[in-house]
Amino acid sequence: MSALFGNYSRRPIHLVKGQGTKVYDEAGKEYLDFTSGIAVLSLGHANPILVEAIKEQSEKLWHISNLFESPEQEQLAATLVKDTHLAHGFFCNSGAEANEAAIKLARKHTGKHTIITFENSFHGRTFGAISATGQAKVQQGFGPLVEKFIHVPFNDVKALEAVVNDEVAAIMLEVVQGEGGVNSVSEEFGEAISNICKEQGILLIIDEVQTGIARTGTRYAYEQTALKPDILTLAKGLGGGFPIGAMLGTAEMFGTFSPGTHGTTFGGNPLAVAVAQTVLNHVFEESFLGEVLKKSEYFTEQLEKILPAENFTVKGMGLLLGVNCVKAVAPLITKAEDAGLLLVGAGEEVIRLLPPLTVTYEEIDAAIAILADILND
Ligand SMILES: *Cc1c(COP(=O)(O)O)cnc(C)c1O
Repeated sequence: MSALFGNYSRRPIHLVKGQGTKVYDEAGKEYLDFTSGIAVLSLGHANPILVEAIKEQSEKLWHISNLFESPEQEQLAATLVKDTHLAHGFFCNSGAEANEAAIKLARKHTGKHTIITFENSFHGRTFGAISATGQAKVQQGFGPLVEKFIHVPFNDVKALEAVVNDEVAAIMLEVVQGEGGVNSVSEEFGEAISNICKEQGILLIIDEVQTGIARTGTRYAYEQTALKPDILTLAKGLGGGFPIGAMLGTAEMFGTFSPGTHGTTFGGNPLAVAVAQTVLNHVFEESFLGEVLKKSEYFTEQLEKILPAENFTVKGMGLLLGVNCVKAVAPLITKAEDAGLLLVGAGEEVIRLLPPLTVTYEEIDAAIAILADILND
């Protein structure tokens, strides 16, 4: 009997150390980690610059609480909103918490309740976040859920238009549905949402918990679309492995989160902020972002060469890629693992490819060789 709850179906590998893209199990077997802890390890495992950042901060100050001012949080928020239309940041500890803050802010700011989200979306596991999520499997057994969330089909302009009315506070979406199958927002849909929000005075919440922080080759994925969020949520890649989440908002939102309206004990903790600042100082560099795009192009080209049949397709943005295998991928993921490549699915039929953003071309080639074997088997 396990001392843990059984809410994860864990794979039987005990990983004990990592360096860059590589991880090692107890027996010393080496794997290429193309999961990055699910888009978390933006700078790879045990990156010396992050090790140094946390070491340095851990000798100074671990925790102070938000009772006191924090120039470090100010600096981190300023870095996140620099050269964007966004103006303010709030720090928390996870993606679900960032979305929880976003939902609360949107309701309080508009005085309205309805939030439109999309089928196959994923927004996290708190009550607000599962209510926003458009997947029955994450909601089952937990009702009654938070009211007034409407889920409509993704990339379906007509379905969206049909539910828009003057009771809608916000539309909330992912630019690429990560958990839901690596589905990118279409150009047409992005433009339609942008117009609807503008015309109807509806807030736009973009959940970039998975797509944000350089994962798609720009700082935020929305920069590659017509979408302009009023509220943006971040987590996974932000701390490079140290837990931290963030919600960003426009200047208009400022007054709504007045003192005492929202908070968290650990949010913006000095350790988390020091690591996140170090992550941003690297991944927001133009040259780094350009490299992510180049690697993405190379990876996509190589993947397309090895697809075994026409109905297999490559999708996604940047280094959030998916291979739609049009069949259950769980056995393929197990085979890859045996061959030394760690992968994660997205829905039942898509293999998700999320290497650290620091992955090398040689490592992409090595992953391609393994993928070619398992896909063509
Ligand atoms: C992972 C994820 C979340 C939830 O983040 P947690 O840190 O697990 O709470 C929310 N939204 C998206 C798009 C995600 O990928």
